[in-house]
Amino acid sequence: MRNKNQLNQEEYYPSPINRRVCKCGWDHDFQPGRKDQLYINKRHYDAYYNRNNRKIKNQHIIAAEKQLRLNNRTLDKYYKANITNQKKGFVQCYLTILKADNFTTKHHVGIVEKGAKTFYCLYDYKYHLFKNTNNELIIEIHKE
Ligand SMILES: [Zn+2]
Repeated sequence: MRNKNQLNQEEYYPSPINRRVCKCGWDHDFQPGRKDQLYINKRHYDAYYNRNNRKIKNQHIIAAEKQLRLNNRTLDKYYKANITNQKKGFVQCYLTILKADNFTTKHHVGIVEKGAKTFYCLYDYKYHLFKNTNNELIIEIHKE
């Protein structure tokens, strides 16, 4: 690590302070001017701060996008597992089974109305929810 990304290579005079790795996270080895200097300069500090602050600010967005991809994957799994038995071009499953696979109805990317049916969209599929005669929730999955 020592020779990687060394800045100020001309500064090889002996110093009472040991060289250290900049806290910015890019493995920059540098010679601190003060004992409490953790970053090469303000630019390196700002880079560290902005990157970490942005990560914290966007955590809920990252979590929502992860759930959207999981929902899309779950629809894909049940669609592909059941489509060969269906003549209509869509699949019907118990919603509780998909929910046991961590599917959520809270996360979707849009709603479309088709006749009397409301469809919730994911990336490659859309689905419609209804109750069967036994009052169980059924999810009807259509490929986009
Ligand atoms: Zn740095």
